[in-house]
Amino acid sequence: MIYPWQSDDWQRLQQLRSHWPHALLLHGQAGIGKLQFAQHLAKGLLCEAPLAGGEPCGACAACKWFVQGNHPDYRIVVPEALAGEIGPPGDDDAKADKADKADGEEGKKGRAPSKEIRIEQVRALLDFTGVGSHRGGLRVVVLYPAEALNVAAANALLKTLEEPPAGVVFLVVSARIDRLLPTIISRCRQWPMGTPAPEAAAAWLAQQGVDDAPALLAEAGGAPLAALALAHDENRTLRDWTLAQLAAGPACDAFACGETLQKLPVPLVLGWLQRWVYDLLAQRTAGRPRYFPQAAGGLARCAAKLDAAALARYLKTVTRQRAVENHPLNARLVFEELFLGYRELFA
Ligand SMILES: [Zn+2]
Repeated sequence: MIYPWQSDDWQRLQQLRSHWPHALLLHGQAGIGKLQFAQHLAKGLLCEAPLAGGEPCGACAACKWFVQGNHPDYRIVVPEALAGEIGPPGDDDAKADKADKADGEEGKKGRAPSKEIRIEQVRALLDFTGVGSHRGGLRVVVLYPAEALNVAAANALLKTLEEPPAGVVFLVVSARIDRLLPTIISRCRQWPMGTPAPEAAAAWLAQQGVDDAPALLAEAGGAPLAALALAHDENRTLRDWTLAQLAAGPACDAFACGETLQKLPVPLVLGWLQRWVYDLLAQRTAGRPRYFPQAAGGLARCAAKLDAAALARYLKTVTRQRAVENHPLNARLVFEELFLGYRELFA
């Protein structure tokens, strides 16, 4: 299935069907459904009785295998850390494995799952592309997200893209094309995917049972799937509590923030903080926030008291923390320091 805002991309891509590029780079903002689109495209390319418009029939052997996650001519390559969420629909082992790890104390015992696509994964792919098709049709590889390729893996992939095996199609998906090797980009046919119009995105979210779609969409930068994830975010109460602390400006209780938020993933809290500071700057320069329109009152009150240069320096501090956020840190100390720094902006 593709999302309603993707039908134009789908139709335009079908025109390439007779001379399909050996590597297609689908890129665009995170949270707009690029991966699902690529998977549906793969299913359509592998389907042995495609319908008009390139839609997979859903009934042939190829379509059934695809849904079960065991089509012999299909591979999806993702970082280990995403495997449980994204793996083929029928891949319950991977999901159970992931659930086990989430249950236990992941990272304390044993190695945390890799967030990179490693060279071993690309090498395994070469074995797959090196043999012929099982079904006599195309072989399709989805690679997601391409920015997760580490340097060695990217170079290994590059060799394949330079001498593409006949009948193999790569669907490369990326939200951060700026992080890809230029040589990889130049070997792919680029296909930019846009963020849907706010009305279309809000309508879709309403269909999913989301009641405050406009506010969530704003927070998610317009990306509907990211907005949906926010709607189901178990940390929403804490998020709102944190925004209230930030809105309190000089009365922000930095130690309470450290204490209350220390159990949350550091990147999550830094993301809230970063978007809040962006909004303070946007409030000053454009007169309206971008991510938290529902907190416009608090943002305006805070922005009026702040020095723009000091705020810009503080944003740099938060951004620097984001660069090391995946390293083991004492979350409580990191949060205390950042929220103290925030309060000092009002001194
Ligand atoms: Zn089919």
